[in-house]
Amino acid sequence: MTLRDYNIDRLQAETFDVLIIGGGINGAVSAAALAARGVKVALIDARDFAGFTSQQSSNLVWGGIKYMEGYEFGLVSGLCKSRNELLESFPSTVKEIRFLMTLSREFRFHPWVILASTWLYWLLGRGKTRIPRLLSVNQIKQSEPLIDTATSSAGIEYSDAFLHDNDARFVFNFVRSAMDKGCVAANYIESRGSQRDAIGQWKTSVHDQISGKTFSIHSKVLINAAGAYVDQHNKLSDIETRYHHLLSKGIHLIVPQISNKHRVLAFFANDERLFFAIPMANRTCIGTTDTRVNDPLTEVTDEDRDFVLTNINARLNLPTPLRREDVIAERCGVRPLAALKTSGTSLDVQHLSRKHVIETSEKHKHISIFGGKLTDCLNVGDEICERVAELGMKLKPAEKWYGEPDAQVRAAFFDRAHKLGLDEIVASDTHEALSTRLWRRYAANADTMLDAIEQDPTLAEPLLEQAGIRRCEIDYLAQHEMIVKLEDYLRRRSKIELLMPRETLQQSAGLLEACKQLFGADAQQRIDEYFN
Ligand SMILES: Cc1cc2nc3c(=O)[nH]c(=O)nc-3n(C[C@H](O)[C@H](O)[C@H](O)COP(=O)(O)OP(=O)(O)OC[C@H]3O[C@@H](n4cnc5c(N)ncnc54)[C@H](O)[C@@H]3O)c2cc1C
Repeated sequence: MTLRDYNIDRLQAETFDVLIIGGGINGAVSAAALAARGVKVALIDARDFAGFTSQQSSNLVWGGIKYMEGYEFGLVSGLCKSRNELLESFPSTVKEIRFLMTLSREFRFHPWVILASTWLYWLLGRGKTRIPRLLSVNQIKQSEPLIDTATSSAGIEYSDAFLHDNDARFVFNFVRSAMDKGCVAANYIESRGSQRDAIGQWKTSVHDQISGKTFSIHSKVLINAAGAYVDQHNKLSDIETRYHHLLSKGIHLIVPQISNKHRVLAFFANDERLFFAIPMANRTCIGTTDTRVNDPLTEVTDEDRDFVLTNINARLNLPTPLRREDVIAERCGVRPLAALKTSGTSLDVQHLSRKHVIETSEKHKHISIFGGKLTDCLNVGDEICERVAELGMKLKPAEKWYGEPDAQVRAAFFDRAHKLGLDEIVASDTHEALSTRLWRRYAANADTMLDAIEQDPTLAEPLLEQAGIRRCEIDYLAQHEMIVKLEDYLRRRSKIELLMPRETLQQSAGLLEACKQLFGADAQQRIDEYFN
């Protein structure tokens, strides 16, 4: 029986303290925080975990320097605090990175104002990162000859953080951690709405998107973490709220690596918004846009592509300008932004706060999560525990519910991996040692992979050429990471789909072998489904 089937049986048979609708970052951290405090939690998502907005971010863990322009110092301070905590707690996954921001002579602020702002930003970040510095045009040229400085006035270098793997993997690790602590989670389970029953409990009608079966899940409390679909689900469940979501679309294009210097290049686009060229393994991820939309389902248009390409080409001296044909992969998502219903729907999304809002109905034992950011996730997890406790649920005393295992466990892992020769196995594209990669992706769970390599050293060999994935990982993935479709693996548990051109992936000899282990007899069917 697969983990998913087992969990679906439990979802039908048991009554939960809390059911969470939505396995994006907000739902995942809520599940992890509550499960760690002894709450009996269930988590469902209509798609794969992180299968909607949380797989489309810029992968930045940051205080949001740009929000200072709207004087949102409280928000920036809170996000910086969360960033620092994530940097400290997930040292292998959340990494400090330098940003090089180039300013043009026509820019609305003098470079000294921007420098002063980056110092204030650094102070709001409690001085936990490297200090900012001002660069002359000549210093920019020396530091990054790729930047076209013809119209530049100066550059500012400062620090923030980014997710080494990707956003979706980061989210999944919270789901995994929740399951390790007793949460019953299943992907591809859509809620069709929830109603209170005669004894005041929630009865949520769900549809299994894979088997087509419908059933009900019973819970004492309901948390709506459906992101861009929060309003829709509240309507289905007769819940009234003061807030609602306005949606803003953002896209990224992934192109061959434009610079081997490991830092983010930041510019102000023609619409005066900050946009970035962010390292992603051996590729560069460029974006983003900020366009008001009404429908959560969006796609990249030619206009979006041209906006990003025109802006980046205008600011770099590339040997040949980037064209649509150079794009390896695209990302497109909507930001669910929290707004008071009384403020109407005509607000400018570019200036709308990125804060999160948690609304509780004590009477209905219902919680809705609006807005937020990946960076804000620890605050959301903690607040959800407080709100659930206020609804009368007994929680175990607070303890740290997130983070990599402690230094002793880490040292033991690396010592063993070193003895097995995994420090010498280095990825050709990212130059990362296998020991580091396994720890970052699976932490203490990677011990099972060391056991496997100890038994059979050929399991340290690559399975998918050019993708870094090793044979020892696939068994673990099949058993513990609830991979239902090939896309779950290629796009979310890993970022292979974002790095490898589709044709290369399709021709990869290891793909069928990987799929046989992941999907057994359905391997070819899953491959066809993915490529068609
Ligand atoms: C372009 C872009 C760039 C961004 N960059 C950054 C960044 O660099 N750093 C940062 O911190 N933040 C960033 N963000 C913001 C961040 O990505 C979002 O705030 C966050 O991912 C939203 O998470 P969520 O859990 O609310 O929503 P989601 O991730 O969308 O999760 C909600 C889940 O609910 C599920 N669902 C919906 N309806 C149902 C139902 N009826 N039944 C069951 N499940 C359901 C969906 O399938 C979905 O998986 C960015 C966002 C965008 C769009």
